[in-house]
Amino acid sequence: MLKLHSNHLQEIQTHAQSTYPEECCGILVGLQQGDAKTLIQVLPTENSWNDEAAETFCSIEAMAQLQQSRRNRFSIAPAAMLQAQKQARDRDLDIIGIYHSHPDYPAVPSELDRAIAWQQYSYIIVSVQQGKASACKSWSLDQDHQFQPEDINILPIG
Ligand SMILES: [Zn+2]
Repeated sequence: MLKLHSNHLQEIQTHAQSTYPEECCGILVGLQQGDAKTLIQVLPTENSWNDEAAETFCSIEAMAQLQQSRRNRFSIAPAAMLQAQKQARDRDLDIIGIYHSHPDYPAVPSELDRAIAWQQYSYIIVSVQQGKASACKSWSLDQDHQFQPEDINILPIG
């Protein structure tokens, strides 16, 4: 279960529309309490997917068959993750997940999304159809490293 405010979804959707037709990505900062996560801050990051990142993943067999570009791939620079981690810890918060967009593709994780996903994290995917953000879904891994849909609970503003 992922709790968030509607303005968090708006921030993600706005970011996703601004980078269309490329994927956007960013970090979700919040509180983890047992199985429930509460989103506190959305941190947009740059999509640092490039040839270097492609090489890092070239050992993943499925990747070889896929066309790779920022239109269908995202990567968050390790330095950006570290900085977000530090900023979160200073506020007694944690990184609780990652979001990214799927331009002209459903809000369903790809095989690569699954391959590089971490346990514990929530993965919000927003589908952007013809430049307009539509479906927004959250996913988390089960014990078999398979994505399962995660409930999003939209909190009242206050
Ligand atoms: Zn994806």
